[in-house]
Amino acid sequence: MDCVFCKIIEGEIPSEKVYEDEDFLVIKDIRPVAPVHLLVLYKKHVGKIHQLSEEDRKKLSKVFELIAKVAEKSGILESGYRVVVNNGPDAGQEVDHIHFHVIGGKKLGKIA
Ligand code: AMP
Ligand code: ZN
Repeated sequence: MDCVFCKIIEGEIPSEKVYEDEDFLVIKDIRPVAPVHLLVLYKKHVGKIHQLSEEDRKKLSKVFELIAKVAEKSGILESGYRVVVNNGPDAGQEVDHIHFHVIGGKKLGKIA
């Protein structure tokens, strides 16, 4: 599959890994917009929110526990952080593989 995140998950493209379990891989974004910029990748290739199955949605319900864990590990649990999912062209989704940005470590501007 010609998907950069699938290639990272398969280990074909190198990445800076922060956390990994059965369903998720957390890496550092290659073009960080803040001192902390992580990407929580869902390991299964699903492009967009409306393409998630019931089972995918159940697995993704764990994502908030995971985000809190990596936020703590990155030292931004209390200072705060932004979680972003870009979905589709108007949101500027670059990589068509479901992922959550976790952005923090500085005071962030308004979202749009
Ligand atoms: P999005 O616009 O939500 O699809 O964001 C995709 C993100 O993936 C961008 O912030 C990119 O900087 C990031 N990205 C693209 N390729 C890589 C890579 N090889 N390793 C880490 N992050 C990447
Ligand atoms: Zn993929």
